[in-house]
Amino acid sequence: MAPSSIAILGGGLTGLSAAFHLSRRFPTTQITLLNKDIHFGGWVHSRRTKITLKDGRETTVLLEAGPRTLRPNSKSILELINLLDLSPSLLTVSKSSPAARNRFLSLPGAQGLLHIPSSPFSLLTSVLSPKSSPLHSPLGHILLSAVAREPFRPWNRPSTIEDESVDEFLSRRFGSEFARVFGSALVRGIYAADSRELSVRAAFPSLWDAEERGRGSLVTGFLRPSRAPVIAEIDDAPYQLGGVDQQMRGISVYSFSQGIGELVNALLRDLRTRRNVRLLGGVSATALRMNLRTAQFEITTSSCETVRATHAVSAVPLPSLKGLLSPKTPLPHLTANPYSSVTVVNLVFLAPPGHALHPVGFGYLVPRAASGHAENAILGCVFDSSSMSEQEAPWSAEIVKMTAMLREPVASVPRLIETLSEQLGIRLPDPLLVRVQNNAHCIPLLRVGHLQRMQELSGVLRGEPWSGKLEVIGAGVGGVSVGDCVEAGRRAGRSWA
Ligand SMILES: Cc1cc2nc3c(=O)[nH]c(=O)nc-3n(C[C@H](O)[C@H](O)[C@H](O)COP(=O)(O)OP(=O)(O)OC[C@H]3O[C@@H](n4cnc5c(N)ncnc54)[C@H](O)[C@@H]3O)c2cc1C
Repeated sequence: MAPSSIAILGGGLTGLSAAFHLSRRFPTTQITLLNKDIHFGGWVHSRRTKITLKDGRETTVLLEAGPRTLRPNSKSILELINLLDLSPSLLTVSKSSPAARNRFLSLPGAQGLLHIPSSPFSLLTSVLSPKSSPLHSPLGHILLSAVAREPFRPWNRPSTIEDESVDEFLSRRFGSEFARVFGSALVRGIYAADSRELSVRAAFPSLWDAEERGRGSLVTGFLRPSRAPVIAEIDDAPYQLGGVDQQMRGISVYSFSQGIGELVNALLRDLRTRRNVRLLGGVSATALRMNLRTAQFEITTSSCETVRATHAVSAVPLPSLKGLLSPKTPLPHLTANPYSSVTVVNLVFLAPPGHALHPVGFGYLVPRAASGHAENAILGCVFDSSSMSEQEAPWSAEIVKMTAMLREPVASVPRLIETLSEQLGIRLPDPLLVRVQNNAHCIPLLRVGHLQRMQELSGVLRGEPWSGKLEVIGAGVGGVSVGDCVEAGRRAGRSWA
């Protein structure tokens, strides 16, 4: 039987996806979604800002302070693109384009950016070129020696472990230099965190699985096709892709002409047309309890209204959920993961004639410093002008847009521009526009043992007093990518009817 009423806490992408799918699956069930901020979408912040070009013409640039690109491997987002009719505003970057293939690292002491070889051919070229050649890259040497040796390393996963950090995993298979240079850079780029703390099974399950498939060798494992799909399709709910998956063939990443905010706006537009959905923006839940006498959840709110529902979905950060529960009915592990903070700095420059301010490519990352060296506050920088220039059409040739990510607030913008200039090996001019946004505690760091802890949490939710009627989902549970969040929303309440 369908639930009589559902309360959803949190109107980020997880909560909005849950509301969208639950309202379609249970069209007669009353759904109330509460979101603390007036702005729905959580960390998604896509904004157009006015700028004045050289000759006085006015235009706008799209600035993203949260997620900016999506990967086509998430079928649940492709499904939303189809169902919400977002195909006309898709902007894609093909895998073969320089914007996808050219990715860089900035290493202290190295002059300018170092190209990460993206194919066996570019790897060989970078290693065989003389040191004075621009094609030569020290990264090629680290990569080649690590990858060539890996299949010959014995199966060295200790039999007693169920999980380990990304750094421990990569060090075991590829050596500590590879783990520090490549592994730490990737983790800083996605999680703004330290690869020595992040769970490899929670963050990169395909690595753990490939090691098993390859009987100890990751390289061999990746050469053997996996039998299990990355995300198993729910038997009774095939994805409604409407051909969007075909459009995504050969695509590396994508966004929309008005940025990721377009996905949020399309979800809101759809939800506002549904008679069974009530969206409460700027209203936070202040307490959540199960009334066993009425078999209903009672959610007190900042607007003094008490929302009652037979079923509930929590899509708020786990520490926020902890604050809502009574000490008599605690849930385990809600504060096991710390949250990283990221300062996002959008920079727009007037393009100097005939001058590129950055190489064509996706952007660069900054690995963890070698021991004894000071850590760089800059985590990386995205070259939006290369990857998403169409967001600025028809003025894209006249401006250069890039976004720096830092793990702490910016002390001085001129000093930041100086550091970026050193890393790029190019003297950056004064920017036309700078926008700084401090995203405090925005990305959960899924610590080693995360999957085990989440299994324990879901075991407790199946028992009394919750009886499977409360679902706890979101970036801190099932993974931080937008795809993980939308998928979690799609799966919410699957056992309720
Ligand atoms: C800077 C940055 C860049 C990123 N880049 C990418 C990217 O390029 N690609 C990608 O795939 N992912 C990216 N991510 C990750 C992804 O954007 C997030 O993991 C995802 O948006 C989280 O969604 P969520 O709904 O689970 O949580 P949130 O976005 O945190 O939403 C939670 C919501 O709950 C509400 N809330 C909190 N407490 C209460 C309460 N008590 N009552 C009611 N409501 C409450 C909040 O107002 C908020 O709207 C990025 C994240 C950040 C921060």
